[in-house]
Amino acid sequence: MVTTTTPPVITVAPAGLAGFLCDVTEEPVSFTDCLRCAQHGAPGCSFAPGVISNLIRGIRDSDYADLLARENGAELGFSVTELVGCPRQFVLKKQNPYYEKVSAMYRMAFGSGYHSALAEYETSHGFKERTLTWKITFMGQTILLVGTPDLFEYSEEMGGWLITDYKVTANPPFGHKVPICVHCDLELHKNASGDKLVCPNCGEFSPRSPAVARVYKPAQARTSHALQVNLYALLIEKNAARLKESFPVKGAQIEYLGPKTPVRCEVTLDRDATMAFLQARLRVLLNTHDLPPVLDEVDELWRCDYCPVRSYCEQAHGGPVGKAATEESAEAEA
Ligand code: SF4
Ligand code: SF4
Repeated sequence: MVTTTTPPVITVAPAGLAGFLCDVTEEPVSFTDCLRCAQHGAPGCSFAPGVISNLIRGIRDSDYADLLARENGAELGFSVTELVGCPRQFVLKKQNPYYEKVSAMYRMAFGSGYHSALAEYETSHGFKERTLTWKITFMGQTILLVGTPDLFEYSEEMGGWLITDYKVTANPPFGHKVPICVHCDLELHKNASGDKLVCPNCGEFSPRSPAVARVYKPAQARTSHALQVNLYALLIEKNAARLKESFPVKGAQIEYLGPKTPVRCEVTLDRDATMAFLQARLRVLLNTHDLPPVLDEVDELWRCDYCPVRSYCEQAHGGPVGKAATEESAEAEA
């Protein structure tokens, strides 16, 4: 007699945000089960049900830019946040189901709350959280770029728009002393062995050389945040007719909202570099054959610590990524 056994049913969640990663067990959990767990006391967990409920209500459709693109007759949409983030993460999130850590969602929601409070600021000549779009054709596809600057207002001192973007963070950037070359005023960086300082024009110096001076360098905006406001500047320029105001964008700043004090960083606007970045980034995101490379810029590696698709990323890469990869290669060299 032939007996048949029913094969087990394997359910695979569709690509996209599928639920939370529990902060206690580190196991995936659906949004509703997490809320139910919080409502029943959640042993060992810090999250009260009201907080979990607020996190669930705050989840934004990850296809937001694509939906807006379709409404505007474009094939694809990219938000400025997506453009300046990790392109590999963007692609992996589209291809796989993933889970966000509850504490990571909490950090984001905490920031959004303060943003909403700051949007109460009354400006007589400016725009708060105004969504701007720009439709372009690139590599044969119509693309809608979407961005929502926190604030841009007319500055009489500058004679044009000043963009302000807020970032709530536990670790705002800070100023520090840096070595510079007394001959050409350029900042010096350590050589590979770390015992000399290198000037791009004058060569290597001993750290105690009289050719090395030390000057205070104010806090600098992080690379991706500087790019973000530069892309907003481009969107404002392209929306001049719709805004009925055709002022040039004259300045941009990031206000880092730290736990003790805000840190304000001015950002240099560079239209040509921003256009070049935009084209290069779109080329990577539109390449459907290859997964974008892992991040390797030092001031962007923090993203890997909070990345919800890190396991997929490391699996495809065949090893650790982010700061762990840098430490591993430093150990290998030692
Ligand atoms: S309430 Fe806390 S313990 Fe319960 S599933 Fe959610 S994160 Fe985990
Ligand atoms: S782990 Fe890092 S490199 Fe990999 S996808 Fe995430 S942010 Fe990008």
